[in-house]
Amino acid sequence: MKDVYDITIIGGGPAGLYSAFYGGLRELKTKIIEYRSELGGKLHIYPEKIIWDIGGVPATPAQNVIQNLVQQGLTFNPTVHLNTKVDFISKDRELFVIETNDGKKHYSKKVILAAGGGIINPIKLHVEGAEKYEISNLHYTIRGIQSFQDKSILISGGGNSAIDWAKDLIGVAKNIIVIYRGDKLSAHEAQISYLQENGVPIIMNTQIQSLIANEEKTKIKEVILKNIETNKLTSIVVDDVLVNHGYDRDRSFTFETDITPEQDEQYNYYYVTNSKGLTTVDGIYAVGDISKHDNKVYLISGTFQDAINAINDIKVSLEPTADQYAKVSSHNEAFEKRNREFIIKQLINQ
Ligand SMILES: Cc1cc2nc3c(=O)[nH]c(=O)nc-3n(C[C@H](O)[C@H](O)[C@H](O)COP(=O)(O)OP(=O)(O)OC[C@H]3O[C@@H](n4cnc5c(N)ncnc54)[C@H](O)[C@@H]3O)c2cc1C
Repeated sequence: MKDVYDITIIGGGPAGLYSAFYGGLRELKTKIIEYRSELGGKLHIYPEKIIWDIGGVPATPAQNVIQNLVQQGLTFNPTVHLNTKVDFISKDRELFVIETNDGKKHYSKKVILAAGGGIINPIKLHVEGAEKYEISNLHYTIRGIQSFQDKSILISGGGNSAIDWAKDLIGVAKNIIVIYRGDKLSAHEAQISYLQENGVPIIMNTQIQSLIANEEKTKIKEVILKNIETNKLTSIVVDDVLVNHGYDRDRSFTFETDITPEQDEQYNYYYVTNSKGLTTVDGIYAVGDISKHDNKVYLISGTFQDAINAINDIKVSLEPTADQYAKVSSHNEAFEKRNREFIIKQLINQ
């Protein structure tokens, strides 16, 4: 027998997680399908960055925001499929059929697209044997600036993220060198000037030629650099190598022809929605960075409102006699037991 869900959410980033929370609050049977091995969406590409602009959440590293989003998103125990990519969405009479890369079919009354900018992966370093150092000292994201304290760091990349990393490491790392294979950095000028004022060398027209391991073959101890104009090779001793050569994006999921929602004319990765998050196809909603509507806000905060609007519309569509809006959480019976548990926990901790 088919296990049918009220809503199936594609993507477990901020938009998907908040949709799952609100779906649970509105007593909808909810499933999240996420390609990555962990929930949290694209915050995983900037875990060390401090986020300031979420209402009620003062300056907090993205890593902690992920933890809070996940905790809240799982409040009502939605079903979660990780490491699972949605490939194709079709319709079988009243139900949507969501096909995933493991050959499974998921059945749902409504679908929420919360796939953000797609599946994002850092572009890897194309140097022989590089992958074996990913568990030691070759990094594609920074998780905790303090782990680079007093280290010699080589950063490869010329975009905003690479230059931002160099900036964040000033005063933490012992030495920082930035290399870039082009002859003009694409990062903001102010950021570049900041590095220069702080004595961080930026070496242009240069790329990583090869990596030399320590005796145990567990870590990179030296990097051979090549000047791509002169072919001259130089070597530097490093503790860690950080690479930011941009990101690959996979936005490849598709729909059966007659249920393909309209995409934005200019930026065809956005799905056009009305103010309730409904796409041009009945039953398919889009929330967060993947959606476009009037006055859309492409911020974490914006994903929350998108999610609430979509879930409320879905609730009424599935149960026409339901209230259009949920009660505020401070007065909502759904939290009675949890509130008591929360108060008891606080008393114990006092
Ligand atoms: C460097 C950087 C810094 C930022 N700083 C801030 C900030 O300070 N404050 C702020 O408010 N916003 C910031 N943002 C924007 C914020 O990250 C986004 O607005 C937010 O992540 C959007 O959430 P989302 O859930 O819509 O999409 P995402 O976070 O992109 O999540 C989408 C999820 O869907 C999954 N997915 C995609 N396709 C599939 C598929 N086919 N099958 C299964 N899963 C799939 C992806 O793996 C991903 O986990 C920043 C963004 C970047 C890139």
